[in-house]
Order: sequence, then C-alpha cells, then structure tokens
Amino acid sequence: MIANEAGLRLLAFATVLATLALAERAWPVRGDARPSRRQMHNAGLVIIDTALLRLAFPVLAVALAASLEASGTGLFNQLGWPLWISVPLAVLVLDLAIYWQHRLMHQIPLLWRMHRVHHSDLAMDVTTGVRFHPLEIALSMGIKLGLITLLGAPALAVVIFEVVLSLGSLFTHTDIALPRRLDHAMRRVLVTPSMHRIHHSTLREETDSNYGFHLSVWDRLFGSYRAEPKRDEARMPLGLEEFRERDDQRLLALLWQPARRDRRPPADPPD
Ligand SMILES: [Zn+2]
Ligand SMILES: [Zn+2]
Repeated sequence: MIANEAGLRLLAFATVLATLALAERAWPVRGDARPSRRQMHNAGLVIIDTALLRLAFPVLAVALAASLEASGTGLFNQLGWPLWISVPLAVLVLDLAIYWQHRLMHQIPLLWRMHRVHHSDLAMDVTTGVRFHPLEIALSMGIKLGLITLLGAPALAVVIFEVVLSLGSLFTHTDIALPRRLDHAMRRVLVTPSMHRIHHSTLREETDSNYGFHLSVWDRLFGSYRAEPKRDEARMPLGLEEFRERDDQRLLALLWQPARRDRRPPADPPD
C-alpha cells in the first residue's frame, strides 16, 4: 500500500499541477502565471524540500499511521471507533491543526522568518503553492508526525489529508478567474484562490487574515475571515514590502531569507 500510495500521489500531483497551470493561463485573474524566473526559483525550492523530506524523515506520515494502527497506539486506535467516524474526524482535526500552525507562523517572529519566504513571492500562481522554505517544511512534518502519533490517526485519514494538502495548496494559489457565484458558493465550505489571494496582499491586516488551507470554516469560527480585499484583486500588489528587489527573489536569497533581519512594521492593534 505504501509504495502504491507514493506513486499515486505523484501521479495525482503531476496531473493536477498540469491542469491548473493550463487553466490559469487560459482564464487568468491577473496574468501572474506568465512564464518568469520566479517559477524556476519556486520549483528549485520544491526540489530541495522533497529531497529533504526523503533524507531527514525516513518515516513518512502514512507509514507512521499504519504502524500505530498495528500497535493500537494513540487516541483513535484506543477508542476503536468505526472508520466512517474516525476518518472524517481525524481529517477535520488535522485541518484545524494546520490552520493554527499557519496562524502561529504569522504571530511568532521566529516562525514568521521561515514562513515569509512563501509570502515574499511578488505574484501568485500554482508554483506559489509549493514555495516553502525547507525549515518550514521540516517543522511542519515534525508537527504532523507528532500529531498523528497523539491522535493515532487512521492511515486512510492521513492518505486523504496528505493528498488533499498538496493538491489543495496548488488550487488555492492558482490565478484562475472562477465565476463569482461559483467562488461564493465554494467559499461556504472551501478556501478559494480569491480568498487566499487576500492572504498574500502587501497590507499587513490582509496578510494576517484567511489562514485556512482547505476549509473556510476555521477563519469564520476564529474571527480571521476577510471576504474582500481593500484593493482590486486583479491589480493589488502581492508579496512583502521588504523583499521586492530582483536579488531578493533568487533561490539562494530565498534559502537565506530566514536569517535576514525582520524589518516588517508591527501590526496595528485590533479594532
Ligand atoms: Zn501565511
Ligand atoms: Zn499562500
């Protein structure tokens, strides 16, 4: 199952990536997906991230969940609930956990240094969905493995979550212009590209909103939902004020970025 799962994930990832990349060129909101060097730099990061995960984390999330299942370790394995309850519940808990992980990435200065690499992209297209610093990827994997151990999350839930996480991140970063009514209907449950684009705004109050990865419910529930950007989404500047030079966007500069001083102005106090 594990070998099949890796092949299946790669196939699903490549298919969805190609489809979204074609769709955002065909129906763009901003034209951010036009070929440029930033896509090469983002691809460079995902290659480094993938190699790091293979080398530094010999136990992958699904294999860990399967071995916990076999030994009856963790909350869900102890409870012994049927899969139709425990699988959706575990997926929901994992999604809630990454909502809070993402929110803390913005609030804790040391974590922001890693996460701002994702935000320093001056445009947003499908490649932004894989633009994460290796330190953030390693930290996220460590947290995820810890959480799976505590929860004893069913292996099936972890497979679903892993597939949804990688594909969902591609979708929410695309430059696809969805019909407004469709966008609004989807947003009742899911995070859409328009909703996530607000999170990539240069305005701090907009960046500090819409933290959800898949389900929009967490932002509504925890008061971080923002329906519309202050400026027109087709023209609003994206990225961070402090990293707008061409040299800031090179692969080596992105890898070094967490070590650079945080020159971000403090957030305004909440109203
Ligand atoms: Zn963020
Ligand atoms: Zn993003």
